Amino acid sequence: MDSVGKEHLEEQKNYPTFIDNIFYEPKKDYCGIYITVNNEHDQSSNVEGLDKILMDKGVPYQLVVNRSTEASVSCYAVLDLTGKTDARETIEKDIRSLFGQKLVVFEYIHTNIPGVMCNTKSFPLMLEVVGSKIPVTAFTHPFWGYLFGALYDTFGAGGLSIIWMMGRESAEGMRPIKALPLNSQHKLNVALIQLQLLGWGKFEILSAQDKNFNIRVFDNFECLNTKELKGYQSSFMRGMLTGLATLLMDKKGNTVERKCIKNGDPYCEFCFG
Ligand SMILES: [Zn+2]
Repeated sequence: MDSVGKEHLEEQKNYPTFIDNIFYEPKKDYCGIYITVNNEHDQSSNVEGLDKILMDKGVPYQLVVNRSTEASVSCYAVLDLTGKTDARETIEKDIRSLFGQKLVVFEYIHTNIPGVMCNTKSFPLMLEVVGSKIPVTAFTHPFWGYLFGALYDTFGAGGLSIIWMMGRESAEGMRPIKALPLNSQHKLNVALIQLQLLGWGKFEILSAQDKNFNIRVFDNFECLNTKELKGYQSSFMRGMLTGLATLLMDKKGNTVERKCIKNGDPYCEFCFG
């Protein structure tokens, strides 16, 4: 199987969410556009017309619908205008006449860095949890790896305690979930789904009885990024799970990691009790 096919299979297994794309193509003349169309009174008004304009002009493009609500649809497109730089004006004219009064925003996007294209309007990153829109500040895996590594290398076991406490205290951020009219196991489940959406890993509750639980985590981000740190124990995840047990199940106790991808297991497994 070629690498594209493999990547596709991988995506089908996990459905990753791409936040945004920064790319560098010095030989291409890329151009970004950002538009918002009001479709409050006409749900059929969408970005299909935009597709047609670009296809008719023979302009290759990538189109990303950023946000679609009952009132409006916003999208960002990267156009490849290599050899067609003068198409910019007619593209703008055609888009304006297509959407008319419904066009709320039309902007060309530039990074002002030669060869670099990305959606510079993409901010902030948002997570919507049961109607609440929460801004997110994310780290990439290498950032986490360096952060855990720096604390562990500098403070040793004390660093692990700091990381554990950071995990436990940050579970407080899940307090809105505590207010949901669900039983404690389902609240725990919602909290784990939120962690999964934020990229912590893929969670599976094996058992949750009498306020104890066993949880399996596939692709646990902490273990994936501390493989080179000899003696490092998954502390952030243990702290977070301990904090969630206290917050959502009113239970004091400790979380132990019984299986770990770093020991050759196919997943990490945590037991709270
Ligand atoms: Zn692990």
